[in-house]
Amino acid sequence: MHRTGLVCHEHYFWHHTGASAGPLPYNLTNQPDGHPESPATKRRLLGLLEVSGLLDKLVSIRPRAAEVSEVTGFHTPEYVRRVQELSAGVGGDAGELTPIGTGSYEIALLAAGGCLAGLDAVVRGEVQRAYCLVRPPGHHAERDRGRGFCVFANNVLVTQRAQRVHGLGRVAIVDWDVHHGNSQEQAFVEDPSVLTISVHQDNYYPPGSGLIGVNGHGRGQGANLNVPLPPGSGHGAYLDCWQRVVVPALLRFRPELIIVSSGFDGSVMDPLGNMICHSDTFRGIAQMTLAAAQEVCGGRVLALHEGGYSTAYVPFCGLAVFEELLGGPSGVADPFLPIFAPMGGQELMPHQRAVIDAAAALVGKVPRGG
Ligand SMILES: [Zn+2]
Repeated sequence: MHRTGLVCHEHYFWHHTGASAGPLPYNLTNQPDGHPESPATKRRLLGLLEVSGLLDKLVSIRPRAAEVSEVTGFHTPEYVRRVQELSAGVGGDAGELTPIGTGSYEIALLAAGGCLAGLDAVVRGEVQRAYCLVRPPGHHAERDRGRGFCVFANNVLVTQRAQRVHGLGRVAIVDWDVHHGNSQEQAFVEDPSVLTISVHQDNYYPPGSGLIGVNGHGRGQGANLNVPLPPGSGHGAYLDCWQRVVVPALLRFRPELIIVSSGFDGSVMDPLGNMICHSDTFRGIAQMTLAAAQEVCGGRVLALHEGGYSTAYVPFCGLAVFEELLGGPSGVADPFLPIFAPMGGQELMPHQRAVIDAAAALVGKVPRGG
């Protein structure tokens, strides 16, 4: 069994996103409903970890609040102040589709700081891997505004600390959330020391973001890989993408740490995504990512929770990833798998293969690590 840490905190479930109509604000023609980025999926994943017995095998890592100076390593001071003001008042939107409730500022700092604490535990060798089950999520947050439910860019802040405080050289971010990881692209698109890989649904959110042609600029040429898979992609497409793009890119770049932006909104049950992945898909891509980490960086992996909105299915997709992180089965089977695994369209299709071919052709441009 691998020594695996878990970062979680009750306050992560108290970040209140209020009412909405799907991901959009409600109004007089768009009837109010619960917000999709709610505590439920995260709390139910934690619940299944407990019920399955895996929680007892995880090393609990205590989160801390991130310092403002750590957050302004990426975000503008004006933006951080704006979040603080909204949170201290009656709430509001921190940018685009990013609800802030009472106390959300402090909770977002605790989420970012939890990820930083997870990083410290991995880099110091207290655990080999860690999963940060945090809210609010981070991989859409930009320098000067929140986007797509994301307040602070946890993965960017973690990468900066890994390099600036712990002195790591090369860091890779692998993002399997169904939406494009635009935070890390904005932060590191010109940086050859950070390899950013995002596998997402083609031109979905943010709109116009995550194009395959955005492959890194200037000195960072080749170090940003976008794989915009067609909607409807499933098990075959994701596994093929990891085999021919993600793993070869990681082996070529040889990072000293791999950060995973772990969203489960690529699942077939997801109300916001249009992919058809199931728990064995997440198991497979986690397994391959961990095997690559074993080969290049002593298995050092830090996973940060991002999206995933199916209350029924996120827990089972998450459990599969935790089983891989720990390196042993929980004994709890995914009850949905007999329906989703054999369903039509799970095999790799030619139009999906064409996108993966194009991305695979970019692997040779990834900067080669020492
Ligand atoms: Zn997402």
